[in-house]
Amino acid sequence: MSEVKNSNVAEFFGCNVFSDSVMRERLPKNIYKSVQRTKQLGIALDSEVADVVANAMKDWAVEKGATHYTHWFQPMTGVTAEKHDAFINPYGKGEVILEFSGKELIKGEPDASSFPSGGLRSTFEARGYTAWDPTSCAFIKDDSLYIPTAFCSYTGEILDKKTPLLRSMDVLSTQALRILRLFGNTEATRVTTTVGPEQEYFLIDKKYYDMREDLVITGRTLFGAKPPKGQELEDHYYGNIKQRVSDYMKDLDEELWKLGIYAKTKHNEVAPSQHELAPVFTTSNIAADHNQLTMEIMKKTAIKHGLYCLLHEKPFAGVNGSGKHNNWSMSSNDGQNLLDPGDTPQNNLQFLTFLCAIIKGVHEYAPLLRLSAASAGNDHRLGANEAPPAIVSMFIGSELESVIEALEKGEKFSSVDNKTFEIGVDVLPDFPKDTTDRNRTSPFAFTGNKFEFRMLGSSDSISCTNTILNTIVAEELCQFADELEKSKNFKKDLKALLVKTIKEHKQIIYNGNGYSEEWLKEAVEVRKLPNLVSTVDALPEYITPKSVALFEKFHVYSEAELKARTDVLLENYSKVINIEALTMIDMVKKQILPAVMRYTKEICDAGASKQAMGIPADVEKDLASKLSALNEGIYKETAALESKVITAQGKTGVLETARFYCDEVFTQMQVLRAIVDETETNVSEDVWPLVPYTTLLFSV
Ligand code: ADP
Ligand code: MG
Repeated sequence: MSEVKNSNVAEFFGCNVFSDSVMRERLPKNIYKSVQRTKQLGIALDSEVADVVANAMKDWAVEKGATHYTHWFQPMTGVTAEKHDAFINPYGKGEVILEFSGKELIKGEPDASSFPSGGLRSTFEARGYTAWDPTSCAFIKDDSLYIPTAFCSYTGEILDKKTPLLRSMDVLSTQALRILRLFGNTEATRVTTTVGPEQEYFLIDKKYYDMREDLVITGRTLFGAKPPKGQELEDHYYGNIKQRVSDYMKDLDEELWKLGIYAKTKHNEVAPSQHELAPVFTTSNIAADHNQLTMEIMKKTAIKHGLYCLLHEKPFAGVNGSGKHNNWSMSSNDGQNLLDPGDTPQNNLQFLTFLCAIIKGVHEYAPLLRLSAASAGNDHRLGANEAPPAIVSMFIGSELESVIEALEKGEKFSSVDNKTFEIGVDVLPDFPKDTTDRNRTSPFAFTGNKFEFRMLGSSDSISCTNTILNTIVAEELCQFADELEKSKNFKKDLKALLVKTIKEHKQIIYNGNGYSEEWLKEAVEVRKLPNLVSTVDALPEYITPKSVALFEKFHVYSEAELKARTDVLLENYSKVINIEALTMIDMVKKQILPAVMRYTKEICDAGASKQAMGIPADVEKDLASKLSALNEGIYKETAALESKVITAQGKTGVLETARFYCDEVFTQMQVLRAIVDETETNVSEDVWPLVPYTTLLFSV
């Protein structure tokens, strides 16, 4: 990758992307048009067109120094996958030519046997295939041409996160268009979902990262006593960005801009060493690709600066963890944001229709949204008094709530300045967008012209959440359209439908403090909202009859695919906890126990010398017996953890195994941690074998 010397962003933005404008410049007109048509209709390129496109892509990539190409995809694991092939082909005697065919562009056949398939693919037919997603541009990174692709098994089952997302986008478009037609819109031909994911992360010194086995192996600290100063002063949030971090952010922005990623906002977050990056929103599938790339480039760029970027949801106990806010909206290709109230009574009513569909969808399918944010890492956040609770509810703001109430009661709505409005007749006042007092404790909040889903963990892919969101909203729009298309009096029937929807589903709306105890009680006891506390509670919701019926209705997932996905996620959960437990055991045996023993001996020796001289050694005696008791506790709890891990490893059945890891192994890990952390506070700093929190959190 060539260094960017020019500080003119406009000149290098997207320089490593085979973008629309590059295509227009380099492809014959008819070929370019044919690619555009393919993109719009979501159909496959025909082979002659593909050959020309592939050749142009290759020439462009080679000019930019690329030697390889790769089909880049998002398997069911959390990361992206790639297999690189060189463009070279033997030619004549010992010579090569550079080639890239249309076939190679459109379809790849990576050996898929090592990717999780949840039993969908037997090893004898290990090959899967990847297919180009032409709506997401190819790009160059590390001297390879990257082609964003979807990944399927040979028999067509989906093995990745992109395919269902693309399907859900189509489904939502179809249903949203039916509603727009009812409002007399004949122009729009496509509704796209847009996403702007805000990404939180920690940045620590690489030198200290390397010294902690837990960080290196699991991405989080498994031990660590709370430092005297954490985030309580809130002096880090939006604080002055330190030079080293600022240099990193600048470099990161440039790397992302070269890849055509609209990195826009950066600031310090609440916890020390925590930061956030937000891009300008774009189409969901592109946002998902870009977010994956962003996470990767964040990590790579950090290394260049002697830093380490932690994307784990909870790298440090006692300070805030990291999330990812999924800002989501829908827009039609005639230029409307469907979640913007608009400036005519007609638009207002249309907005309220989409809003009610979302309210109904979130209420009916809350467990699915919850599970889209389920992972071992995120279990430390959801419901743990920092991130939104594990209970899904919606915040719509007081203005909008009074509009909804007025609609329900058939009354006129009066705004803050006491003007009254009749819904569907007058233009509603503007709702405050992004005001500072908006609710930050709600899992799903309306922020003026979009919804912000706040449950996602920082390392999660956004694909699953958006697949679910698109599908549930499509389902509700479909139900609305089915009913209203039969109507003889559209406005009257629409209002009746909206009123009914509000009556039946307003329990999902909660504008208060989502972190409070009262809410937990009210949500569960009065409103009967599901509280799926852990990943293991949430994941089986994927395969309830209701969920299967929803996804099969729209061909987003088959039942087999849902089962496979659930198994993969549950297995992954068990693996993560297993690795964490083993790492803990290893650290205790090799580092912590020996250190405490040595230190205890040192104290005993000191006490003995004192006593030999007739000086009382009460302090030494006291401290030595305290440490000795703590070490005994560590020893016992480690043995208990070991035995639970062995039991867990012998379990069969993915759900039962995951349950055991959650209830027994993870719980025991917390017991062990507590006693080790207490010991840390009683041991001299130069003896304690692990880099302490204060150094990790405050050294950059
Ligand atoms: P805050 O931290 O106040 O929530 P940010 O500016 O950090 O706000 O992030 C807001 C995100 O919402 C940005 O990524 C922005 O591009 C995105 N966004 C704005 N409008 C839309 C929209 N119509 N659809 C999807 N995302 C949007
Ligand atoms: Mg933000």
